[in-house]
Amino acid sequence: MDTPDPNVPPSPVTIADVQAAAIGLQGIANRPPVMTSRTLDATTDAAVFCKCENFQRAGAFKFRGAYNAISQLTDAHRERGVLAYSSGNHAQAVALAGRLLGVSTTTIMPSDAPRMKLKATRNYLGPSSEVIVYERDEQTREALGAQIAQERSLTIIPPYDHPHVIAGQGTTALELFEEVGELDALFVCVGGGGLLSGCAIAARGVCPACRVIGVEPANADDAARSFHAKTLHTVHNPDTIADGARTPSLGRWTFPLVLANVDDIITVSETEIVLALKFVWERMRLVIEPTGVLALAGLLQIAQSTPSMVAGKRIGVIFSGGNADIQMVAKLIAKAGA
Ligand SMILES: *Cc1c(COP(=O)(O)O)cnc(C)c1O
Repeated sequence: MDTPDPNVPPSPVTIADVQAAAIGLQGIANRPPVMTSRTLDATTDAAVFCKCENFQRAGAFKFRGAYNAISQLTDAHRERGVLAYSSGNHAQAVALAGRLLGVSTTTIMPSDAPRMKLKATRNYLGPSSEVIVYERDEQTREALGAQIAQERSLTIIPPYDHPHVIAGQGTTALELFEEVGELDALFVCVGGGGLLSGCAIAARGVCPACRVIGVEPANADDAARSFHAKTLHTVHNPDTIADGARTPSLGRWTFPLVLANVDDIITVSETEIVLALKFVWERMRLVIEPTGVLALAGLLQIAQSTPSMVAGKRIGVIFSGGNADIQMVAKLIAKAGA
């Protein structure tokens, strides 16, 4: 290695951080299987390896980042407890990670969060932990979260914009490379960019030739626009079935990491998301939530528009989570037709 350039600040998250997070998660996080499908390989003319984070604890990769972040707090911070605001998978992940680490958690969820997610979060709660439900119209969760965190001296665990969260999410791709070896390309969904930046850092570290491609709903294309313009773009309350990608923008930490480590960000239509959803439920028989199939929708789009980019290649796809509302999925698939 050359000596580091003093004008380039060191990356706030390195492959060593991802590897350290992987060691911390050993025996605690699940190591979800990598699934393949002959139909998928035939459709794309590629060898496709799908990392199934729907089988992760609490049903999504979010457990990795939440556990890694809470486990690195000082004893004093652990004793006071942590706070998270989320309508979805991050809430469950923090509640479970807090319980496992003996840290009390306060989770702020909107009253209109899916009942299943409210119930699951309450189920994971450890002693002296609670879920606070708020009315979405009356308060912004950031303001409410900041106020409660300050009053009770709690440490906020953000869903994506934190170096320890990003390093934890990166262990998803690290495991995929450990399991299947080199890949030519890796497709990853994008919300706030925690999973994408972490996985891109892992790829750069262990398989530098692998192209890393983020996939976002076209209706929530803030990350794609930010990536191509190199300035931060925001989309508020986007209308997409991929609820995990409704975040308004990339973050202070994730945006520069995405710019530095990701090769491209592409967008998929709501129809493409539903077709990918239908494929994984019907053909692969996997319970994946709509946000969880974004990466596959991106691969299927490229396989159709630019087959030479994937033909004969080894491709990784991350299925990010499986906390699906089954009735909603059934309706979407029925509407998509046969
Ligand atoms: C949170 C989440 C995402 C988005 O992850 P970011 O790190 O915010 O980009 C995607 N899929 C699922 C299932 C999630 O829970």
